[in-house]
Amino acid sequence: MGAKEGFILFKRELPESRNPEERVNDYKEIYKPFDGQKLNEQSARCMDCGIPFCHQGCPLGNLIPDFNDAVYRNEWEEAFNILKSTNNFPEFTGRICPAPCEASCVLGINKDPVAIELIEKNIAEKAYELGFVVPRPPKQRTGKSVAVIGSGPAGLAAADQLNQAGHEVTVFEKDNKVGGLLRYGIPDFKLEKWVIDRRVEIMEKEGVIFSTNTDVGFNIKAENIIRNFDAVILATGAQQPRELKIKGSDLKGVHFAMDFLGKQNQVIAGEIDRNPISAENKNVIVIGGGDTGSDCIGTSNRHGAASITQLELLPKPPKQRTNLNPWPEWPMTLKTSSSHEEGAERVFSILTKEFVGNEKGEVSGLVLVDLEWKAENGRMQFVEITGTERTIPCDLAFIAIGYTGPAKNGLLEAFGVKTMENSLPKSKEYQSTNQKVFLAGDMRRGQSLVVWAISEGREAAVKVDEFLQGTSSLPRKDEGFFEIEESIIYESN
Ligand SMILES: Cc1cc2nc3c(=O)[nH]c(=O)nc-3n(C[C@H](O)[C@H](O)[C@H](O)COP(=O)(O)OP(=O)(O)OC[C@H]3O[C@@H](n4cnc5c(N)ncnc54)[C@H](O)[C@@H]3O)c2cc1C
Ligand code: SF4
Repeated sequence: MGAKEGFILFKRELPESRNPEERVNDYKEIYKPFDGQKLNEQSARCMDCGIPFCHQGCPLGNLIPDFNDAVYRNEWEEAFNILKSTNNFPEFTGRICPAPCEASCVLGINKDPVAIELIEKNIAEKAYELGFVVPRPPKQRTGKSVAVIGSGPAGLAAADQLNQAGHEVTVFEKDNKVGGLLRYGIPDFKLEKWVIDRRVEIMEKEGVIFSTNTDVGFNIKAENIIRNFDAVILATGAQQPRELKIKGSDLKGVHFAMDFLGKQNQVIAGEIDRNPISAENKNVIVIGGGDTGSDCIGTSNRHGAASITQLELLPKPPKQRTNLNPWPEWPMTLKTSSSHEEGAERVFSILTKEFVGNEKGEVSGLVLVDLEWKAENGRMQFVEITGTERTIPCDLAFIAIGYTGPAKNGLLEAFGVKTMENSLPKSKEYQSTNQKVFLAGDMRRGQSLVVWAISEGREAAVKVDEFLQGTSSLPRKDEGFFEIEESIIYESN
């Protein structure tokens, strides 16, 4: 442990963000660099707890007090080795993770938690800067081949692990470039795409083969993949959007959020000239109070929307934890994202009744009603408040109310994977009902987080390795750093 009194001496500090008025003119990352001395102070706030609840909070089991201590001592290579032992892509999670580790940090009981995500990002960036992230192809190849379908964080993590275990890995991706929702979903102002390119370049040099513009099931038949590879991992995400089944949702101007966000990523990447959906000078309504909705706000502001309103069915959460939601539970508190800071009205406890259209079939308004939430028989139920029904102007609506599961395109059936009633595929320890086919990420667990996708990719890789070799020396979650270092033999270029 570094400074014994760090948590008393120093307050939690985060990097400044660029002025909202300035940053809405571009799609660049919004945070300014963080001073090295201040980062050292932030790492000194870690108490090296006897029971570090932060480990439990992190789906990857990141060894947080250990890397905090290494950062405090300015031992960047050590910090990076600790971090990479559990997390393949800290440069992604350090930027966009909602940081469940911080929610369960012991310091959070009566002070602000340790700035773990910030420290993680800085370790990753320092590692690139100092040349610690170099291609390390495996020393030996096993002669076994694995097809990974889908190049989101789950597919990438699985590919990275299996390649390090010596298998020949080919990643098939239907889109133009690798990255899944990291690339064509999450806006550039949260994650600039050079961060993905930089990592993919390393993985290519390590021997992972990427086959983009390859829609498995369409460009290559599932049966050919099954025949030509020793094992398959499906990591195709859960991008089937939940529909808003109200009158008028088929009007022009009513879109699923991803139709807008994915296209904007393509515009910024120079893949297309313009976004077919423009929010410029429009009254934009975002339906859904979550992160995807927030990303629609940030993007609409950058288009120059006339007004933006975000609607949420549930009541407004409290600013602080209540007694019913104590530490270390995930705090059910009001979250204000950087996109909210840039400008949007947020309305809670509201029900969308129907879209209203004009004579051209375009959306022009949305009928709403206020709700009252009451606990009945132990469950929260809502009732409409009489006399509050009204119509608000709406030229463009984004539906961001979640995803129901993997795309319904016959892919699972083609691979012989059975599904459950909730439309997610059946699996036992990441293995599907076809024993040669394994599952990872959102497609297995439903829409989730990047950190969970990486965790799933890593765990599925262990199961595939065991399937191919009878045993696996790949690290499992909760294993110690030193065991991991001994178990994998790398060859440095
Ligand atoms: C708008 C938005 C913002 C988000 N923001 C955050 C955030 O800030 N932080 C966070 O932690 N999480 C965020 N998430 C969630 C996060 O992006 C996902 O949980 C994560 O990307 C899931 O990873 P995955 O690898 O399982 O799937 P995906 O990232 O969905 O990747 C699946 C890949 O499979 C490919 N594919 C599908 N079918 C085929 C096929 N037949 N052949 C070949 N390829 C195929 C797809 O093209 C895609 O590239 C966000 C999600 C959205 C939609
Ligand atoms: S819970 Fe917080 S203070 Fe304790 S070891 Fe983890 S990061 Fe440090």
